[in-house]
Amino acid sequence: MSFDFLQDKDRIFTNVYGFQNWGLKAAQARGDWDKTKDLIALGNDKIIDEIKASGLRGRGGAGFPTGLKWSFMPKEAPKDAKGNPRPSFLVINADESEPGSCKDREIIRHDPHKLIEGALVAGFAMRARAAYIYIRGEYIREAETLQAAVEEAYAAGLLGKNAAKSGYDFDVFVHRGAGAYICGEETAMIESLEGKKGQPRLKPPFPAGAGLYGCPTTVNNVESIAVVPTILRRGASWFNGFGRENNHGTKLFQISGHVDKPCVVEEAMSIPFKDLIEKHCGGITGGWDNLLAVIPGGSSVPLIPAEQIMDAPMDFDGLKDLGSGLGTAAVIVMDKSTDIIQAISRISYFYKHESCGQCTPCREGTGWMWRVMEKMRTGDADIGDIDTLFEVTKQVEGHTICALGDAAAWPIQGLIRHFRPEMERRIRERQGGGSDAMMEAAE
Ligand code: NAD
Ligand code: SF4
Repeated sequence: MSFDFLQDKDRIFTNVYGFQNWGLKAAQARGDWDKTKDLIALGNDKIIDEIKASGLRGRGGAGFPTGLKWSFMPKEAPKDAKGNPRPSFLVINADESEPGSCKDREIIRHDPHKLIEGALVAGFAMRARAAYIYIRGEYIREAETLQAAVEEAYAAGLLGKNAAKSGYDFDVFVHRGAGAYICGEETAMIESLEGKKGQPRLKPPFPAGAGLYGCPTTVNNVESIAVVPTILRRGASWFNGFGRENNHGTKLFQISGHVDKPCVVEEAMSIPFKDLIEKHCGGITGGWDNLLAVIPGGSSVPLIPAEQIMDAPMDFDGLKDLGSGLGTAAVIVMDKSTDIIQAISRISYFYKHESCGQCTPCREGTGWMWRVMEKMRTGDADIGDIDTLFEVTKQVEGHTICALGDAAAWPIQGLIRHFRPEMERRIRERQGGGSDAMMEAAE
């Protein structure tokens, strides 16, 4: 069955390659900030209903339904001990640190006004008084662009008192992180914004119950917020018309690794993997027979071997069915020149390095798993260590405060599930036993 590729007229991010200026005038010429007050005039509940109807699911990796998340925010402001109303906040997660992910960077570089307008509309819908955009420390130029765009919006009356003449007061603050991956976890981000060490909190309570400074808070990814004004302008059914049941809309895919043209591209959800690569990346380096495996959603999700991913729909359910996930849609393509054990060992090192250390299975487990993965890489492990390693990943998975523990366990599980013969072969060779073929020949 042929796939209906996204047409230019249906692209939300019309300046994702930066061919045009990111500034306010150019953004307005592209349709941003067009009658924003009319969007706000729809009212809180109608906006939330539209976003629910659009089928938008969080674009930061977890895919939680965005409109549903907003509906958890209180309609009446909770009171503090003295009976004063407490504010609600929107926190926008621009701490894009997942290896392979770079889509939010492109939005902020080239389309920052989509994000800022989205912050106002989403913030209004959830009754937030301000948005904090938490941007990763390494995005230095992007933070400068974002800050300049925010200042442009204030100067034009689009933020601040009576923002965009909507009658609603709304502020946007840009906050720079300091290079810790874990601050991308929503409650660690809240801790960091409060000036504390960035360590995840136990959930529940979820941020809508007790978030920034203990106030109702929603944390959303950059892409999730930046698409909101366009969805409202074009209608929930327009957005819902892309993809398939439970996996709707358009999505920014970021394809890196062994393809002829790595790129960031907006496509309809559920595009088959092969079509995505053929149409936008010029194919696999050395041809399709040279494909080894793909990590389809950033380093946190398990790899999928070549033969299984070809026709897979690139969406939440299609990749879950293959034991992996869409994650951030950061597609890392690996051809047969890749040392797949080394690649996963490198990912293990990343999680060991980024663990905040507050819970034992993650603090101890990530280091242990990386050390064993290094033995797997060099072949200095025993065959039995493969089972032990798998067992330890299962002890880490689901037994930690935040998802970093799972993210450290899953890539290793994927490797063992799909490349166990390669791991065994390396160990045998290192121990002087020769390859499988040699062993068989000897028998
Ligand atoms: P999660 O499933 O715990 O939560 C997702 C969102 O849904 C959160 O905002 C959470 O508050 C909300 N939520 C979930 N259950 C809820 C409930 N019962 N009630 C109210 N709200 C609820 O996932 P997570 O830990 O936020 O994110 C993990 C994902 O993040 C991974 O899958 C990974 O793909 C991704 N990730 C992305 C980056 C990046 O750079 N964008 C970095 C690291 C990880
Ligand atoms: Fe910290 Fe790891 Fe525990 Fe998350 S799982 S809270 S990163 S120690």
